[in-house]
Amino acid sequence: MRYVSTRGRAPVLGFDDVLLTGLAADGGLYVPETWPQLSTADITALSGLDYPTLAARIMAPFVAGSVLAQDLPALLAKAYSGFSHTAVAPLVQLNANDWLVELFHGPTLAFKDYALQVVGHMFERVIAARGTRMTIVGATSGDTGSAAIEACRARANIDVFILHPAGRTSEVQRRQMTTVDAPNVHNVAIAGTFDDCQDLVKAMFADTALRQDLNLSAVNSINWARIMAQIVYYFWSAVQIGAPNRPVAFAVPTGNFGNVFAGYSASRMGLPVAKFIVGSNRNDILTRYFETGSMTVEGVSPSLSPSMDIQVSSNFERLLFEAYGRDGAAVTRLMDQLKQSGRYAVADAPHHAITAQFVGRRLDDAGTKAIMAAVHGATGALIDPHTAVGLHAGRAAGLDPAIPRLTLATAHPAKFPDAVFAATGIRPALPPQLADLFERTERFTPLANDLDAVKRFVRARVTA
Ligand SMILES: *Cc1c(COP(=O)(O)O)cnc(C)c1O
Repeated sequence: MRYVSTRGRAPVLGFDDVLLTGLAADGGLYVPETWPQLSTADITALSGLDYPTLAARIMAPFVAGSVLAQDLPALLAKAYSGFSHTAVAPLVQLNANDWLVELFHGPTLAFKDYALQVVGHMFERVIAARGTRMTIVGATSGDTGSAAIEACRARANIDVFILHPAGRTSEVQRRQMTTVDAPNVHNVAIAGTFDDCQDLVKAMFADTALRQDLNLSAVNSINWARIMAQIVYYFWSAVQIGAPNRPVAFAVPTGNFGNVFAGYSASRMGLPVAKFIVGSNRNDILTRYFETGSMTVEGVSPSLSPSMDIQVSSNFERLLFEAYGRDGAAVTRLMDQLKQSGRYAVADAPHHAITAQFVGRRLDDAGTKAIMAAVHGATGALIDPHTAVGLHAGRAAGLDPAIPRLTLATAHPAKFPDAVFAATGIRPALPPQLADLFERTERFTPLANDLDAVKRFVRARVTA
């Protein structure tokens, strides 16, 4: 498979280069040159497969031509072997219409493990084949950092540096990063905000010498490999409740639009999906877009679902590229407008194409607590605040009740114990493999918000 940039002016690359590159040279995001197609018979044949086997069927066309193509099934079996539920992504039925797809059985209890565990193994294979090494540098406000650390901790020839804002992540989130004892994992607590951390990372990538000397790479959701691995659970869950013979709807708690774009990708590959329902918290730029056709940046304010506290959703660019008939110049114009004025309007035809498949719903913190309490009251189940936003969005979207709704449960409730306690009066326990998290030794280096100090630290610590 070859990959093209959403802005149309970067080199066309194969999978391995897309995996290592992240952002395209023209500032765009990579997407596959064509969408692999699954026939009705192909989709029917997925039913009954175990998760890693189904994953190999879905991902095989995307990695065709890669050095890891031959070993993909073994690589996936390894990547998912550490998950704590034998189904990997079990479905739970809440009532006649609502199912949860539990995506929190990986090592760090959020859906990001489902892709990053795979990506960690893929990095290792591709750099081994090239006889090189790499340095992952990332900023995190919580979930991405720990998922990236868990994905790279045991991988040869990879160092991972994660910058988090000192004192500004939850204690569970910080401990999930800082208690990992591996020589190639380096946690840095920056005296500053998440935005300061992100600016430091961007500045490191802009330093060409540093970038080349250390082979810097990124693990945020602009990396196509993460989207690809997330396509799997859309097919996996839909076939369990009747696809391809009946269409389903997916409700997705959304931040950067990576997860729901993976669902869209599944639909382009042939999965019948009635609607994608995008859930936002009070940071509702996407819901406002679906309602008005215009993407307008506003400030961000903290909510009970912090992983969705976003100002702009970078992966929306991939959907624009499709809606504009793969016109990279048109996407470039919109992104330039966004940069200059904090706003762009989507033309009528592409906007209608988008709203035919997507709808957005928002929920504030009080509503989020009310949903968590209602689910607990009705079923005894505890859900996390992100999942609550998604579940509400699905119910509020006004779809035909004959269409089953699958809500992606993106985090384990124990990852957000304060919000769950505030809503239900119950403090969810960490699962057994993390039960001693609060007794483990933390390791991190506090650094000033100072680019030179961070660069010196990274250069000194890379395990050559
Ligand atoms: C990252 C994250 C999201 C948002 O996912 P996107 O792919 O950025 O839209 C939602 N919920 C949880 C728990 C997350 O960690």
